[in-house]
Amino acid sequence: MSAAGAGAAAAGAAPAVTAVTVRVPAKVNAGLAVGAARPDGFHDLANVFLAVSLYDEVTATPADTLTVTCSGPDADQVPLDRTNLAARAAELLAARHGLDPAVHLHIAKNIPVAGGMAGGSADGAGALLACDLLWGLGSSPAELLEICAELGSDVPFSLVGGAALGTGRGEQLAPLESGIFHWVFAVADGGLSTPAVFREFDRLAAAAGTEIPAPLAAPDLLAALAAGDPDALAATLLNDLQAAALSLRPELARTLDAGLDAGALAALVSGSGPTTAFLVRDPESAAKVAGALTASGTCRATSVATSPAPGATRH
Ligand code: ATP
Repeated sequence: MSAAGAGAAAAGAAPAVTAVTVRVPAKVNAGLAVGAARPDGFHDLANVFLAVSLYDEVTATPADTLTVTCSGPDADQVPLDRTNLAARAAELLAARHGLDPAVHLHIAKNIPVAGGMAGGSADGAGALLACDLLWGLGSSPAELLEICAELGSDVPFSLVGGAALGTGRGEQLAPLESGIFHWVFAVADGGLSTPAVFREFDRLAAAAGTEIPAPLAAPDLLAALAAGDPDALAATLLNDLQAAALSLRPELARTLDAGLDAGALAALVSGSGPTTAFLVRDPESAAKVAGALTASGTCRATSVATSPAPGATRH
C-alpha cells in the first residue's frame, strides 16, 4: 500500500474517500500593469485579477502511481507528464507530508490552453485542493497558498478566485470589491507562450527607449470595479502586454475590431493572449457579440462568462 493509502486507512472510522472533484475558474486581467524587468528576469506587476465563470474540473482518484489524463477540445495540447501543473501540485503537497503522490488526476478542460486565462494555474490549484481533500490532510488556506506561490505566479489567485490585486510577480494577493460584469472571450487558433510575450514587451520597451514606471493599479479602475459600473470599467481596462501580444500576433487586431463593431463596451487581449476579452453590458449583448465574433471568422471559438467567479471549490 502506498503511504497515501496507509495514511487514509489510518484515519480509521471515516468512510474512505474514493474521488474528489474540484472546479476551478479561468481569469481575466481587468488591469495588467507591468514594470521593468528585475535582475531575476521577472517583472513586478500590478495585476487586477477577475475570476470568470469558465471552469476546468480536476478529479483526484486513488491510484498506484501519479498519472494524469485530460479531456476537452484542447486536450491534445496538455502535457500529461510531471510537467503538468496538476501533477506538480500533487507532488509538492505529498512531499510536504512525507506521502507518496499515488493519485490519478483527470482534468476536464474548458479553459483555452496557453490562452492567457491561467488554465494551467487553475489545474494546479484544483489538483492541490482535490489531493488535500482526498488525502484528508486538512491544510490551512495559508499552507495551500504557499504551495500555490511555489507552483506559479497565477496559481494563488486560481485558488481564491473572486477579484484581487496581485503584486510582486502577481502572487501577493489582496482581495478587491467587485460588482458583476459580463464578458465574451474569443479563443484564437494556437497559443502564445507567456515568457515569449514578456520578452517581446522588454524588446519593445528597449526599442522605445522610455523609462518604465513602477506598476500601479489605477484608482479609477478599482472604483469602477467596486461600483459594478461597466461603462467606467470599459474606460479604464488596461493591459500593458497587449502591444507585445499584438506584435507577435497582428491578426488579433481584427478580432478586437470585430467585437467592438458588434457593440462590446471594450476589447482587450486577455493577459499574455492570444485569447481576447470583450466587456459587454448584459447577457443579451454578450450573445450578440459572441455571434458576431463567430460570424467574423477571426477566432476559433467563443465563450460567454461573468465575473467574479468563486475560486477552487469541491464539486
Ligand atoms: P497564464 O495566463 O497563466 O500566463 P496561459 O493561460 O497562457 O497561462 P496555460 O494554459 O496555463 O497558459 O499553459 C501554458 C503552458 O503550460 C502550456 O503550453 C503547457 O505546455 C503547460 N501546462 C502545464 N500544465 C498545464 C495544464 N494543466 N493545462 C494546460 N497547460 C499546461
